[in-house]
Amino acid sequence: MKRKIRGRRDIGIWTATVLLALAFCLSGCGAAPVRQQTSVDTAMGTIVTQTLYVRQERGHTGKESEAEGGTEGESAFVMELLAQLEQQELSWRIEDSELARINARADTGADVSMEEEPDVIPVSSSMQDILGQIWQISTDSGGALDVTLGRLSRLWNLDELAVSAGKGQTHIPAAEQIQSALEDTGFERVRLSEGTITLPAGMQLDLGAVGKGIACDRISAYLHSRPQVTGAVVAVGGSVVTYGEKPDGSPWKVAIMHPREEGNYLGILSLTGEHYISTSGDYERYVMAEGVRYHHIFDPVTGYPARSGLCSVTIVCDSGLQADALSTACFVLGAERGLDLAKSYGAEALFVDEVGTLYMTEGMREIFSAGQ
Ligand code: AMP
Ligand code: MG
Repeated sequence: MKRKIRGRRDIGIWTATVLLALAFCLSGCGAAPVRQQTSVDTAMGTIVTQTLYVRQERGHTGKESEAEGGTEGESAFVMELLAQLEQQELSWRIEDSELARINARADTGADVSMEEEPDVIPVSSSMQDILGQIWQISTDSGGALDVTLGRLSRLWNLDELAVSAGKGQTHIPAAEQIQSALEDTGFERVRLSEGTITLPAGMQLDLGAVGKGIACDRISAYLHSRPQVTGAVVAVGGSVVTYGEKPDGSPWKVAIMHPREEGNYLGILSLTGEHYISTSGDYERYVMAEGVRYHHIFDPVTGYPARSGLCSVTIVCDSGLQADALSTACFVLGAERGLDLAKSYGAEALFVDEVGTLYMTEGMREIFSAGQ
């Protein structure tokens, strides 16, 4: 039997068919609509704003698949993730969280004797990784970041202070109380080993300086597992993660609050792809008493709200935990030492001081534009 040899014309038709099919696929299969969904919720004691771009899968009927709740399903899952992170790991208020269990083991009551035996406490591998990263930044910042000041931050209790101030009676802690709380702090007194942490009796951890950044890391890990999510920008309080891209290819815009003009922006960051942004400011939780601003970022040396001359610090880098930890540490360190620390982590930084002067790393100049 003779084999039929394809003529040029056959090959032409065949090629055209393949090209047509390919074009159909690119415009038809690939062009499944991308939906934008924006939602505002609360989690971890703060406001969570999500803008997600989700490609709508088509089922065999050709209709958009609602199997997993579509776009709404994705943002609901992000909220679920944050609730779990808070309840199971980071909250010191929720009894069953890992952090609360660590603190409960170290907490031996009000009259803690310095001679008491330190407590060796088992930690999960996730907590060990988190604490390891924090301890590195605490070391590199000379102790400006110190998550062992739980007793001090509870003593100040900014939320209560704000309530009492509203009633015209601000109870600023006494100097002796602050000194006594400081005796139970000091990250260098903690030992981290494989699977355990050893805390001096009476010490309490407070992960408030890094929790929202860790949340951004977890959100990003989730988004990476969802190929249908093509882009997202999620803000957990002052920590933001940008991911993927917008359907029109334009950059993500992240506004930075003006530290002294409520409701106004200092400027906008324009970012493409994946970034983590954290802002620490003395305007977030504070009380004014006799002309003094008592805010929630403490100087671990004095035990009082940090007075480094800065009122706002924004960090942009490639890890949520790092961005959050560095923004708090730089706030305590002030402009000069803060910029050095940020640069040593390859992070971009924007600082505002009390007279409104801006300090920026070179890379920040390229992504920041001042004004509304
Ligand atoms: P942030 O808004 O990220 O700067 O974090 C501030 C929160 O971190 C406070 O509400 C305290 O719970 C905690 N904190 C305050 N000062 C420090 C500090 N110097 N080091 C570590 N945590 C701190
Ligand atoms: Mg922080």
